[in-house]
Amino acid sequence: MRENASWNALPGYSEHNDPVNQAVDFLNQDGINGNNTGQTAADFAGLPEYRWLEAQARQFHFHLSYPRGNDLGITFEPWHWQWRKSEPNPAPGGK
Ligand SMILES: [Zn+2]
Repeated sequence: MRENASWNALPGYSEHNDPVNQAVDFLNQDGINGNNTGQTAADFAGLPEYRWLEAQARQFHFHLSYPRGNDLGITFEPWHWQWRKSEPNPAPGGK
């Protein structure tokens, strides 16, 4: 399945430029980020590294900005996680 990559971020705004709540784009040690030529979001979402992020990132205040079917209508970006200073810090294992 090929994701539509035409809406990766809101026009004129990127969480990568946020002065407080910075976002990062992850890639694994093999260079798979799901966003390079020939890769899809599903490639990254299928990695064990992504499953680790899903389970553990929240405890470090990182949140998946654009999950599948997000209300913003932005393409699923499993690699893009935003650090949010004000978010609660639930124990790992919760959804
Ligand atoms: Zn990003």
